[in-house]
Amino acid sequence: MIEDKNPQRTSISEMGEFGLIDHLTNTFDIKQKSTVKAIGDDAAVLDFKSKQAVVTTDLLVEGVHFDLGYMPLKHLGYKSIIVNLSDVYAMNAKATQVTVSIALSNRFPLEAVEELYQGIKLACDLYKVDLIGGDTTSSDKGLLISVTAIGEINPNDVVYRSGAQSNDLLVVTGDVGGAYLGLQVLEREKQVFQVNPQNQPDLDQYSYIIERQLKPEARKDIPELLKELNVKPTSMIDVSDGLSSEIIHICKQSKVGCNLYEDKIPLDPQTISTCEEFNISSTTVALSGGEDYELLFTISQEDYPKIKANPNLTIIGHMTQESEGMHLVTRANTKIPLQARGWNSFDKQA
Ligand code: ADP
Ligand code: MG
Repeated sequence: MIEDKNPQRTSISEMGEFGLIDHLTNTFDIKQKSTVKAIGDDAAVLDFKSKQAVVTTDLLVEGVHFDLGYMPLKHLGYKSIIVNLSDVYAMNAKATQVTVSIALSNRFPLEAVEELYQGIKLACDLYKVDLIGGDTTSSDKGLLISVTAIGEINPNDVVYRSGAQSNDLLVVTGDVGGAYLGLQVLEREKQVFQVNPQNQPDLDQYSYIIERQLKPEARKDIPELLKELNVKPTSMIDVSDGLSSEIIHICKQSKVGCNLYEDKIPLDPQTISTCEEFNISSTTVALSGGEDYELLFTISQEDYPKIKANPNLTIIGHMTQESEGMHLVTRANTKIPLQARGWNSFDKQA
């Protein structure tokens, strides 16, 4: 489905490891004051002065986390940065640096790795983070990418998963469920394409949800917005595995219960219409779909007036005593226990 726009194939082994690293990284510039030394020595050097540093890592494996059959390498590079920045923002921190490590099989020519790094650079530029290092090695089979993201934060501003209190409001940014449905559309089109390669799909009506899957964004704006509004969440997490499992993480770590209201869950119109087409419940998709990279947080009721009119934020429930349990309150006003089902075990028939 993705056309090979780059027919040239330069063998990486001709360049050598150092030539490759230099070729890939020499266009990256340094934007953060805290970056003292980036690429080029045995280690990078950072100086956060009186701030705390937050550090998070993700490993992405071809065939497990991504499929190059429909994921262009540029998008993959972009997304590999985004998923890590999302974890930094979920601590209420500012993302400042990343390291990128790759293992490549010999089926990848230089042009493929260049594309990957174009996506990485785009994300670094847009999110104003410095690429400060990494590692480059070969793999027997496939592509592995490991990204570590680093951020800075005033010690008083850090938000953990564990601070939610009974009666706090539960808030989510943006809308949820779209990325999972985008993946369903891409997988369906890939199968159609395998049967008939002449069949170029018309994906216009799915543009938003496909973008949510292939080119997600992290909520850099939310820690900034919360600061402006003078709101410090009591707990926060990013939505990578679906609302349900993230709510359960907050509840378990904070020792509280929760009522989540089905009719409050924010959905894009394209998510709703595609759910109808696939004959799946949009609530199930929102609860178990994942990869939305929105932020889910709790705030004290006192802060409600500060956030209530904000179009980025939707109140979807409230926290309760732990003994009351974790529930979805349906449109029909029945209570269903929340279950943790990440997208790996997601049942399409549900
Ligand atoms: P070492 O032998 O000490 O591991 P390398 O030769 O692997 O050093 O790396 C040289 C420099 O290039 C280091 O600053 C390292 O962090 C950086 N680097 C290596 N691979 C990558 C990569 N894939 N992306 C970005 N920087 C990299
Ligand atoms: Mg190395």
